[in-house]
Amino acid sequence: ALLITSKCINCDMCDPECPNQAIYMGSKVYEIDPDKCTECVGHYDQPTCVSVCPIDCIKPDPNHLESLDTLADKYLRLTGQL
Ligand code: SF4
Ligand code: SF4
Repeated sequence: ALLITSKCINCDMCDPECPNQAIYMGSKVYEIDPDKCTECVGHYDQPTCVSVCPIDCIKPDPNHLESLDTLADKYLRLTGQL
């Protein structure tokens, strides 16, 4: 999963673009639910939130480093195919 850092300026560009509805407003800045973020595996070639973020504040979550297979399984679970 990816992580939004505290540098986020709450511009709201990423939230509507997430295919998994994993992005939500946290207590100070936007946050990503690691249970829902597939790093866009199953939907896009690249994480779309990273593509739209104007300040490049979305990074890999060091507490949720996942293999491509794990992310693909998460995508299948989220879409009811597993
Ligand atoms: Fe959503 Fe994709 Fe960003 Fe994860 S990487 S939060 S699935 S847009
Ligand atoms: Fe924050 Fe970047 Fe999302 Fe804007 S696009 S809300 S700066 S994480």
